[in-house]
Amino acid sequence: MAFTLYSLIQTAILCTNAIAVLHEERFLSKVGWGVDQGVGGFGDDPGIKAQILNLIRSVRTVMRVPLILVNSACIVLLLLFGSRREVLLLKVFSMAGRRALKAVLIDLSGTLHIEDTAVPGAQEALNRLRQASVAVKFVTNTTKESKRTLLERLQRLNFDLKEKEIFTSLSAARSLLEQKQHRPLLLVEDGALEDFTGIDTTEPNAVVIGLAPDHFNYQTLNKAFRMILDGAPLIAIHKARYYKRKDGLALGPGPFVTGLEYATDCKAVVVGKPERTFFTQALSDLGCSPGEAIMIGDDARDDVGGAQNAGMLGILVKTGKYREGDENKINPPPHLTCDSFPDAVEYILKNLL
Ligand SMILES: [Mg+2]
Repeated sequence: MAFTLYSLIQTAILCTNAIAVLHEERFLSKVGWGVDQGVGGFGDDPGIKAQILNLIRSVRTVMRVPLILVNSACIVLLLLFGSRREVLLLKVFSMAGRRALKAVLIDLSGTLHIEDTAVPGAQEALNRLRQASVAVKFVTNTTKESKRTLLERLQRLNFDLKEKEIFTSLSAARSLLEQKQHRPLLLVEDGALEDFTGIDTTEPNAVVIGLAPDHFNYQTLNKAFRMILDGAPLIAIHKARYYKRKDGLALGPGPFVTGLEYATDCKAVVVGKPERTFFTQALSDLGCSPGEAIMIGDDARDDVGGAQNAGMLGILVKTGKYREGDENKINPPPHLTCDSFPDAVEYILKNLL
């Protein structure tokens, strides 16, 4: 009996969704914003149209709430009073409805380690994740260290990973320079220059800026300022406001990028997290869509917010740069906020695989 009721409610939800989608598309076509007119989802068109589309979808979601509540009550009744066969059927249904997780993207600094200290238990947790049937990739907004330096540091801390599993914002910047055939003025730390080997830097016609404390002096920033005024594009590896060091929080490249934007009245092209293309590039060789991936990181905006805007799930860990209340700084909030990387892995193994 309870199972029959449960099935009826599921059918009602499906029908409501179908009717809502049908009317939504008809309405959008009427006002000239239908699929044929090329209006994409959230993020593709950040203007008023995208905002109204999201409002329509939010109303549709709210209309579903009463049905979802009744549905949840039915599940509880079924679990309490259903026969063994009915409970088994319910479990099969709920497993079939789960999002199939195929890849886990993991931030490095602040999530697996802080400078030369590993987050307690992170190595074992990574090994456990590797034993599960899920792809793993390490994504970082580093601007100070080359991929090889990062790999050596992590291997010294006993993390099991390979160079080809690391995707950095420097890799994303290099791709853009190659694609546009720019000759950059590179404002990055000397340790990161290795990742730009082979890129022509004579007579620069673009400014690439990362975290480069040794280059952030008046003369160099003024040279960049004059180039941008003369029409050179400003490419920011990322715009993090600050990051975590052993001696406390420290200024990231964001304030310097914003300073150049302010002085030149131009907007930087950002290539690292939280940009949607950064996440899709990172997933590109894993053979899965954003809907089949999850991101774990200590930065609410750049790791979790960025990943969720790209269509992934996001887990915020309370290590590294995390500060009390960071989970409230993004909307929608993180899929999960937990103490550290090992807790995030535990959650994934128990609930998403
Ligand atoms: Mg981090």
